[in-house]
Amino acid sequence: MNDCLFCKIVKGEIPSTKVYEDELCYVFNDIAPTAPVHFLAIPKEHIASAADITPENSAVVAHIFEVIAKLSKDMGMTNGFRVVSNCGESAGQTVHHLHFHVLSGREFTWPAG
Ligand code: 5GP
Ligand code: ZN
Repeated sequence: MNDCLFCKIVKGEIPSTKVYEDELCYVFNDIAPTAPVHFLAIPKEHIASAADITPENSAVVAHIFEVIAKLSKDMGMTNGFRVVSNCGESAGQTVHHLHFHVLSGREFTWPAG
């Protein structure tokens, strides 16, 4: 997946502002934040989207949500936060490497867009 933007970020070929990293996942600030806190949590392994999660690769998704829960405490996101994964064209997915937006620091409306 040499042409994948987020694979390049994981490999350090494109710079990013790291929030957290371990052997399975990488977390970094979104380049165009839409909230005071806006980071992206991604598996290091290339998975194209939420529609490509399978029994074979789903463990990393549970791991990412454990990391998000820990970061929410460490970063003091006590008023709440939103986790979003856009999947496919109609949902507005622009980078085809599974990612979870984590947004906090303001009020959010629902339903979204
Ligand atoms: P999507 O639109 O696929 O749900 O989310 C992709 C996100 O990646 C967008 O919020 C966009 O701002 C972010 N993004 C795109 N290119 C880069 C980049 O080069 N670096 C970082 N840190 N974020 C990026
Ligand atoms: Zn990728």
